Amino acid sequence: MHFSFIKILLKQVIHFLLKETSTDSTGHKYGPESAERRNMVSQVDRTVGYLRKRIAESGLESNLNLIITSDHGMETVIKTNEIHIRMVENFTFSDIQFELLDYGPNGLLVPKEGKLEHVYTVLKNAHPKLHVYKKEEFPKRFHYANNSRITPLLLYGDPGYVQFNKGEHGFDNEDMNMKTIFRAVGPAFKQGLVVEPFESVNVYALLCELLGITPEPHDGSLEIMKPMLYLPVRLPWHPKLPEPLTLRVTPSDPFPGVINSSWVSALKASMTYTGRNSLF
Ligand SMILES: [Zn+2]
Repeated sequence: MHFSFIKILLKQVIHFLLKETSTDSTGHKYGPESAERRNMVSQVDRTVGYLRKRIAESGLESNLNLIITSDHGMETVIKTNEIHIRMVENFTFSDIQFELLDYGPNGLLVPKEGKLEHVYTVLKNAHPKLHVYKKEEFPKRFHYANNSRITPLLLYGDPGYVQFNKGEHGFDNEDMNMKTIFRAVGPAFKQGLVVEPFESVNVYALLCELLGITPEPHDGSLEIMKPMLYLPVRLPWHPKLPEPLTLRVTPSDPFPGVINSSWVSALKASMTYTGRNSLF
């Protein structure tokens, strides 16, 4: 019954994720403090403003819950005092069966049979900005190591210490520059409320609550998100939803070059309701 609406909402989530990739790639390429990144953030900001304006003009404000968030922040990469694992005394890649060291600030190592203790010991204090853990000792707050795909040894660099790019993410989730934004507006949310920082793993529980879906097992908690909600949540499929309703977005609307035509047609499809019958 509500499946089409759920699809619409999920599409919206996906489109924001797609949009966010432009700020992500610009941050990697030019750095988070660059003029290019600032320009991209302001373009995304204008796009969000435009979307909110069209939601208001379409009479949807009292029916639609809108969440603006992202998956991570961005840190400027430090180019001095770099960590070079192959230069570490007594370390040799001939002791390693598998390594993944060239993607982001995290490293994964599978030492050869009987070499785990040796590799762990030589890397442990090799560089003040490099952190080395056995899988079972990796900090729980990273929500990372409790997975069969994670290797017996894990490495991560302090914020800014990574091999590539001018900007990077994936550092310690307690680092301020790894924090992201969260804004929400709509009938389910209290107005003018500022909440304490929370972990992004809780957003899944919130989305499930808003959509009336029973969540799969996950690391988050709805309890942490409840203070921002009117409970019981006012479901978005309000009987007074206008019909039929189309949110018009065209490539010439007002950000040429920012919203490409495929994004526009996807957004257009996601915001086009065929009438009340498809929702109830
Ligand atoms: Zn990225």
